[in-house]
Amino acid sequence: MFSLWGIAGALLLIALLLVIQINPQRRRKRADRFRNVYVFNKERLAAAVTSLQRKEISTAQFSQTCAELRALVRKLSLEDKQYDKQEAYDLFNLAGELEEASSYDPQDLFFLSHAAALLQSGAPRMQLDANRKMAEAKDWVALRRRRLPIEEGLSEVRCKACGFEHPEAHFNGFEDLTSAFCGSCQKILFIEIHGERWKQIKAQEKGQGSLDGLLPPCDCGGAFLFSMPGTCPKCGGKDLETKKASRYEWFEKGRYKML
Ligand SMILES: [Zn+2]
Ligand SMILES: [Zn+2]
Repeated sequence: MFSLWGIAGALLLIALLLVIQINPQRRRKRADRFRNVYVFNKERLAAAVTSLQRKEISTAQFSQTCAELRALVRKLSLEDKQYDKQEAYDLFNLAGELEEASSYDPQDLFFLSHAAALLQSGAPRMQLDANRKMAEAKDWVALRRRRLPIEEGLSEVRCKACGFEHPEAHFNGFEDLTSAFCGSCQKILFIEIHGERWKQIKAQEKGQGSLDGLLPPCDCGGAFLFSMPGTCPKCGGKDLETKKASRYEWFEKGRYKML
């Protein structure tokens, strides 16, 4: 009995020593693998930017490459717990912005020069200062200035019961904005939640018990409406069809207004 326990204990000790011995090595290997795949994909994105600049690929193909790259980087980031992920997040975000910016084929391809400049400057990770995030790079700021000011994206929603269509803006809470949409032309109205206008509207809402008629009319003559996520603003139906829309396209086509 004693010797069996002794053998088991010794085996356990050996196993423990092996794990301690192997783990850092394994971790380094994983980090190397992650880094290689990351660098490969960053180069792949840079190559796609160059190909589009030379008109060797279409914006649709470019957009597809960005989508694939984004999915891959996301998968890797979720898999790897050890690696410092800032550059992976940056690459993920850049690929996402470029996918959306290119998805509607803008005539001037404005995003290409910013994308090329960002990738040349060492972003997603800035080479000069490893702690600096891509978010502060001027080309990143310029790129995002050409889209609606909503960080989580934009959806086009269609009610399966009545066919009514409306846009749904997704905020992440840092925008300090809320939104309504025109029931006739779908233009989005952005309202600053810390601004005077919103304070007045909220005060009037208290007085009359609803927001009806408190927003100015749209340029098309239609009325701006608020919507509840997951509910059709026209019939109250819950069976909705949602598809991703391009914030860059809506901005370019002037389908928004600031109150
Ligand atoms: Zn309108
Ligand atoms: Zn409906």
